[in-house]
Amino acid sequence: MELEGVKKMANIVAIVGRPNVGKSTLFNRLTDSRKAIVDAESGVTRDRHYGKCEWNGLEFTVIDTGGYVKGSDDLFEGEIRKQVTLAIEEANVILFVLDVAEGITDDDKVVANILRRGKKKVFVISNKVDNHVRQGLSGEFYALGLGDPYNVSAISGSGTGDLLDDVVKALDSEVKEEVLDIPKFAIVGRPNVGKSSLVNALLGKERNIVTSIAGTTRDSINTRYTAFNHDFLLIDTAGIRRKSKVEEDLEFYSVMRSIRAIEDCDVVLLLLDATLGLESQDLNIFHLAEKNRKGIVILVNKWDLVEKTTNSTKEYEEKIRHKLAPFNDVPIIFTSALTKQRVLKAIEVAEKVNENRTRTIKTRHLNDVMLPIVEHSPPAAIKGKHVKIKFINQLPTHAPTFAFYCNLPQYVTEAYIRFLENRLRENFDFNGVPIQVFMRNK
Ligand code: GDP
Ligand code: GDP
Repeated sequence: MELEGVKKMANIVAIVGRPNVGKSTLFNRLTDSRKAIVDAESGVTRDRHYGKCEWNGLEFTVIDTGGYVKGSDDLFEGEIRKQVTLAIEEANVILFVLDVAEGITDDDKVVANILRRGKKKVFVISNKVDNHVRQGLSGEFYALGLGDPYNVSAISGSGTGDLLDDVVKALDSEVKEEVLDIPKFAIVGRPNVGKSSLVNALLGKERNIVTSIAGTTRDSINTRYTAFNHDFLLIDTAGIRRKSKVEEDLEFYSVMRSIRAIEDCDVVLLLLDATLGLESQDLNIFHLAEKNRKGIVILVNKWDLVEKTTNSTKEYEEKIRHKLAPFNDVPIIFTSALTKQRVLKAIEVAEKVNENRTRTIKTRHLNDVMLPIVEHSPPAAIKGKHVKIKFINQLPTHAPTFAFYCNLPQYVTEAYIRFLENRLRENFDFNGVPIQVFMRNK
């Protein structure tokens, strides 16, 4: 077995700052919150603190770290400190938001001190610069020692274009290490589900006893596994443990870590605790993986603790599938990291899902299979208009995407698109893989 570190790959921009400076307003401005609402309607995501931004052809992730801390209106200094420290570890670029009308407060100084010690690129955002008078006030922020302030009004959007130009330049200039051409599996799940135990079961030794020094980077917990004919990269979110008595703290950390790991991987191994079942936090992680169009395998861990009856596995599985719907064509494996039951099986299934995710169906074959189906069950006519699907192809994207060419794409309903997705899944193996179906004008 060979161990080897691999650098971070995803582009992540974190917004930090004390409460009420305008972080979430800026987040909405940068991430096109309109799109997030549309997503919420289709049930894909409800996450208001995590989104994508595209500028000058570069796509990156924006995280409002403040949004993940509950009751953030009266944050203690310690909370801000943790939030910012984690942002430094996880993000490539940090947007430090300040309120120009209030100037530098003690909390701002706390944030600035941590940011100066971290080695990440920081943009000082002088927010609420709604008019010319306020522009003059931003000069105060030079004193933070973090570079030129950017005059921004998150509410009106003014100044955000110049800011984004420079953010994109900073992301672009980052040296990204060559990524190995092997499957990358992320082990994610809530605290205590057994992530470290699973990693130890796989790697055969206690390698997750990492000291909880703030600022320890996560790079070292990406591990290459080459044994028993397997060759993959394990992206482990368990590695650094922090002592915290507060439940939502743990939740915040696991979300932040999961975001990075999910963006970096090909297949997500989502661990559940068999004694607890699938809960809303698990669903959040699941949707995050789905939204990023990563392969997904669900591991129901601690299965050794569940009292078995003849049908327990089947019933358990059905319950989970019901909660995952509509996207529930995913493998569900019952594991025990403690007894190593089905741990290797989980890896084999993840490899299969990775294969499914990279599958390309020949156009001829795709049309031979799907055209008779759409002829037999065409979209229902709307206002007397008949939709005719003429041709189908798979687009050359990194996750399976299919374009159905037709005369009136705007008349095709969500329900019919789901029907097409289900027929694709029946005829081709996309188990564990989110797929996209588009209607296009021919
Ligand atoms: P957060 O706690 O840092 O996420 O701050 P919010 O985004 O919730 O904003 C706090 C308050 O500042 C809200 O009342 C916002 O409407 C207001 N605000 C945010 N950005 C601006 C801005 O550019 N100009 C003005 N005048 N107010 C703003
Ligand atoms: P993490 O926070 O997700 O990394 O979880 P850990 O690997 O630290 O596990 C949390 C606790 O659950 C520890 O006490 C483990 O020994 C226990 N645990 C982990 N996996 C299993 C399992 O499959 N069966 C049982 N019975 N206990 C487990």
